[in-house]
Amino acid sequence: MDSKTKLIIKVNKLLIDKFGIPPRNKSLPDPVDMLIATILSQNTNDNNSYKAFKNLKEKYPTWEEAAKANREEIEHSIKVAGLGKQKSAAIKNFLTDIQKKQKTITLNYLKKLDENSAIEELINYNGVGVKTASCVLLFSMNRNICPVDTHVHRTVNRIGIVSGKTPDKTFMLINKNFPPKIAHSFHTNLIRLGREICKPKNPSCGICPLNKICIYEEKDLQIKKMHKKNDFMLLDNIETKYSEK
Ligand code: SF4
Repeated sequence: MDSKTKLIIKVNKLLIDKFGIPPRNKSLPDPVDMLIATILSQNTNDNNSYKAFKNLKEKYPTWEEAAKANREEIEHSIKVAGLGKQKSAAIKNFLTDIQKKQKTITLNYLKKLDENSAIEELINYNGVGVKTASCVLLFSMNRNICPVDTHVHRTVNRIGIVSGKTPDKTFMLINKNFPPKIAHSFHTNLIRLGREICKPKNPSCGICPLNKICIYEEKDLQIKKMHKKNDFMLLDNIETKYSEK
């Protein structure tokens, strides 16, 4: 086992000691729902992206109906999530493209593919990037893939697990020989670490469970308060929370 893989296992254990094993829904969300929810989640909080997802599902009960809408109509439904023009274009482009290529709007055929082939297939659709594709694999297909968002990118580079200049480079480095079965807890707890302790500015290293192994040069070990706890993780709850309403 290489040193990076050993470090991931160690970090995962320390994060579980601090935050516990993140809960998962028994039934996995539909991959197309997950893909759209991930697009909506960019640069906003979970509550606003959830509201946008709910608005979209209420206005267009099927993705085929949403595909017929023009971009501006989609933008109107999702404006609460911000970046409406960009996100509505990504959604419209994806729905149009998948309908053209598959004749129907489903991603269930990806379940037969291995991880690399499924990611390649997904990023070939207009409007879909590596982060969105990897979220679909982790959250909807239960694959052992660690998506890299801004929190995961920042924390794994500070800790010294990898050295990647961009989230896509970090994704490639971290997922090479990723240890089995721990991607969901590792990814989810790192997001929590990034939101509550390892903030972009002034990380609270004094209360961080990783402060003995982290190599971040600007580590500040003064004791500071933890930031607001946020247990709700949109991408793990998209279907459940929506159906509760
Ligand atoms: S020790 Fe500090 S920089 Fe390192 S992971 Fe923890 S909060 Fe982030």
